[in-house]
Amino acid sequence: MLNIVLFGPPGAGKGTQSQRVIDTFGLVHLSTGDMLRAEMASGSELGEQVKGIIAAGQLVSDEIVIALIAKRLDADAKGFIFDGFPRTVAQAEALDNLLAEKNTAISCMVALEVPEEELVTRLVKRGIDSGRSDDNEETIRKRITEYNSKTLPVAEYYAKQDKLNKIEGVGSIEDIAGRVAGVLNQYA
Ligand code: AMP
Repeated sequence: MLNIVLFGPPGAGKGTQSQRVIDTFGLVHLSTGDMLRAEMASGSELGEQVKGIIAAGQLVSDEIVIALIAKRLDADAKGFIFDGFPRTVAQAEALDNLLAEKNTAISCMVALEVPEEELVTRLVKRGIDSGRSDDNEETIRKRITEYNSKTLPVAEYYAKQDKLNKIEGVGSIEDIAGRVAGVLNQYA
């Protein structure tokens, strides 16, 4: 299996690049952000529970997102692309355990690197089109702070396993997709 963690701060282009990878490598896309937004849109109890946390730009509890991922790990898939997960070291450890139960593992992490001011500019622009509750400047800055304190250590976690690949996340979508594919071809 080819199991990839697509990593990067909010606004790095993880969703956009995931779509490319799915098309090229035939992987199943698992985005905890998409799953949580679907829960909110459906008005489920879980959706109600996480709404305020997401709108405030904070991280949802590890327990909730790990359970969402655990439900989706289908052993018959060619592989998975994890987008926006894991966001804490505890989530990364849980993911390693879940995959080990299925006799597989993370193949590599691809980390998109984008300067902070570029992230804010991109997300403010996206907010105008998407209407996402968390794409306003105050919440965007809070999300970036959460990323720097809680999520960045996840890159170190994969670096220790010799699986971290950093990529410049600035440029055209095509150029960045080429850089991502360049890394993935080494593992496919
Ligand atoms: P995203 O679409 O990945 O940017 O996620 C949007 C929001 O959903 C985040 O700012 C968090 O509030 C929440 N979220 C998504 N994935 C996770 C995760 N793995 N751990 C904790 N919170 C998450």
